[in-house]
Amino acid sequence: MDITELTVHELQEKLKSKEITITQITKSYIDRINEKETDVQAFVTTLTDEAMEQAKEIQNKLEEGEIKGEFAGIPIGIKDNMCTKGVKTTCSSKMLENFVAPYSATVIEKLDKENIINLGKLNMDEFAMGGSTEYSYFKKTKNPWNLNKVPGGSSGGSAAAVAANLVPWALGSDTGGSIRQPASFCGVVGLKPTYGLVSRYGLVAFASSLDQIGPITKDVRDCAMLLNLIVGHDEKDTTSVERPKVDYTKSLKNDIKGLKIGVPKEFFTEGINEEVKDALEKSIEKYKELGAEIEEFSLDIAKYSLATYYIIGCAEASSNLGRFDGIRYTYRTPEFKSLKELYKKSRSEGFGDEVKRRIILGTYVLSSGYYDAYYKKAQQVRTLVMNEFNKGFEKYDIILTPTSPTVAFDIGSKTNNPLEMYLADICTVSVNIAGLPGISIPCGVDKEGMPIGMQLIGNKFCEETILNAAYTFEQAIKFRENYKPEFKK
Ligand code: GLN
Repeated sequence: MDITELTVHELQEKLKSKEITITQITKSYIDRINEKETDVQAFVTTLTDEAMEQAKEIQNKLEEGEIKGEFAGIPIGIKDNMCTKGVKTTCSSKMLENFVAPYSATVIEKLDKENIINLGKLNMDEFAMGGSTEYSYFKKTKNPWNLNKVPGGSSGGSAAAVAANLVPWALGSDTGGSIRQPASFCGVVGLKPTYGLVSRYGLVAFASSLDQIGPITKDVRDCAMLLNLIVGHDEKDTTSVERPKVDYTKSLKNDIKGLKIGVPKEFFTEGINEEVKDALEKSIEKYKELGAEIEEFSLDIAKYSLATYYIIGCAEASSNLGRFDGIRYTYRTPEFKSLKELYKKSRSEGFGDEVKRRIILGTYVLSSGYYDAYYKKAQQVRTLVMNEFNKGFEKYDIILTPTSPTVAFDIGSKTNNPLEMYLADICTVSVNIAGLPGISIPCGVDKEGMPIGMQLIGNKFCEETILNAAYTFEQAIKFRENYKPEFKK
């Protein structure tokens, strides 16, 4: 048995029946990282020694009966934009290359309480801006299905690490698709929760009205379990909401009879790859077989989502990233003659091109002369997008789309064309604009064997509905049993 092939719920069963121990689990992952990380390059920081120490400690405490807990000793990987006390949090940027967080994000504290073991910090596009993880200052993560392809982004390290069995599950963050799109490129499950469900405290902010933390896992059950662990009201995040506690695993019923699914036709036209379209059409047929009622409808406003997203996202980013000034906790230029020059040189040298592009764009759309034409207009369109979705959810329980118009693309093929890179987000951004939950699950592969993702969008706080629909589909097609990453070179 290869321990690293197992899902977290399978690990839990084997721990319960005493077939394996916690130290064995951690050891297996460390061996796997040593074997595959040179190919995949998913980590910015590995914590393997620390993890082994922790595993031994937890094992002892469990044996002594000092601690209990079904997640004690389960490893995880964390996207490198979530603060982890005493460990570097770089956002894959030169700006934060040496930043050691003095506190942990709320989600990390929640995992710590369960005695979950952090195997390391995972690579990403710098400050989560990008769709391929190629904008990391440190390294380019490879797609485990084909090492010449990108893993998607910005949570590419998280998705690749889960797909390559370097971690059993991971946390990512999603501002415009950064959990779902890499999950789709790497053939794993990724969920962006409803805005406000998971605390953003300690997540380095990109665009605060869009950012959410969420799980990237091997299957839907693990996704529901990790969601259980991270949700909850947090007074340190004023946008976090108070909700009655639910156990998301209870929603996995493997039955969707009568579920009403709306399919927006605009997501199946321009720019969508034929093989992706075919796979989605087959998936729709599968849902019909499973008892769902499917109807096509129009979500016309979606065509404005991308422009709206990039205006709002850049505006918020330009404001959020103002704090990186070369004075506090960041990179500082070695030579400067005045305060102004210190700011200027530190920011010029510390930020990469994509981040600078967004700061400039964001500053422009917020400037007094252009505010009405761009930022204000984008906020108005945002309301229209929300209204359209609301109308959709009057008729449907779920809205089904591709996660991305294509499968994973070749490394280097879009880095010179930012606009083309932005187009990779066309299917995911409207979900963030409307603050809705969305999950991506694998639904097939193309001729080259690259995974294709399907996105299920739910109404606000209807995570249970999309999780059950995803689970039922997963049980029917058994993707993980049929396809595995091959590390093609
Ligand atoms: N790819 C999108 C962007 O570049 C989404 C990023 C994200 O969700 N963090 O903005």
